Amino acid sequence: MKREAKEGQAAGPDRELRRLLDALNDGAYVTDGGRRIIFWNRAAERISGYRRSEVQGRRCADNILVHVDGRGRSLCRGCCPLGATLRDGRTRRGEIFLRHKDGHRVPVRVRTLPRRDRLGNIVQAIELFDDLSEKLDLGARIEELRKLAMVDRLTGAANRYFTEKSLEARLEDRRRLASPLGVIFFDIDDFKRINDRFSHRVGDRALRTVARTLQSNVRSADLVGRWGGEEFLVIVGHADGRILRRIAEKLRLLVERSVFREKERPVNVTLSGGATLAREHDTVQTLVERADLLMYRSKRAGKNRVSFS
Ligand code: GH3
Ligand code: MG
Ligand code: MG
Repeated sequence: MKREAKEGQAAGPDRELRRLLDALNDGAYVTDGGRRIIFWNRAAERISGYRRSEVQGRRCADNILVHVDGRGRSLCRGCCPLGATLRDGRTRRGEIFLRHKDGHRVPVRVRTLPRRDRLGNIVQAIELFDDLSEKLDLGARIEELRKLAMVDRLTGAANRYFTEKSLEARLEDRRRLASPLGVIFFDIDDFKRINDRFSHRVGDRALRTVARTLQSNVRSADLVGRWGGEEFLVIVGHADGRILRRIAEKLRLLVERSVFREKERPVNVTLSGGATLAREHDTVQTLVERADLLMYRSKRAGKNRVSFS
């Protein structure tokens, strides 16, 4: 018991504190007044890749973590937060980058705290650090990538790539399950005039309004994608010709009846559409081309209508 207490003192913080630090999810290490590392917790091993035995007894600037700030400046000489806390007893916080044993940089949030003896002299310092890449990055980054891969940024509809991929998969399902599949190709009528009469910004808003109207009025299993500038493709599953026609007419009419105000002037657009069911040997290309040609037929016939085949 006595020996352990003595050992504990010689090795750094007492047993209770070591146990506490080992239970943390944050990395933590304790240095003596000369910045020699006297304790290295388990989370620090995980975050930095360095084992306790490789680190304890060395000075933290000895080519181990080599903290740098966001501009790549080394913090070990001159402006080490731990050194500053040892000097003035004040806690410090910051976001910096430590070097992992494998060489890469890990973003961490650090906090430094002084430890004092009974007389109030600063004898040790503790640095706590948590891995920011573990927290925000991975989850948020994956979500961002997922969105970038699928969603059109302006309108929130599926992007062209994702729409094509979905249609390819649906065509495959249609063959396997023999369930009917339809597409509707919509193009906004006289959209250049909206941009010219108002502004490109108002044009963008009109695009968002159309996308929203379409998305809010299809079944959740159907998909609205932005095919090009002012063109949208709606993929409709489990629909025969009669249902496809009804859905296309409903969507066209709902867009015609959507309106927003720009400086008291109403802004409103209409759609020309082409709707068709997938056939035996259709590919994404042949199917969309057929719908596109039907859409042009609607343009020629006077716009704001849907043609079917
Ligand atoms: P039509 O009835 O024959 O379709 O006439 P239109 O004016 O819609 O036809 P056209 O295809 O010639 O013009 C499409 C316009 O859409 C041209 C382009 O400036 C506009 N546009 C394309 N993408 C965007 C966009 O992201 N934002 C805005 N504001 N306008 C866009
Ligand atoms: Mg157009
Ligand atoms: Mg167009």
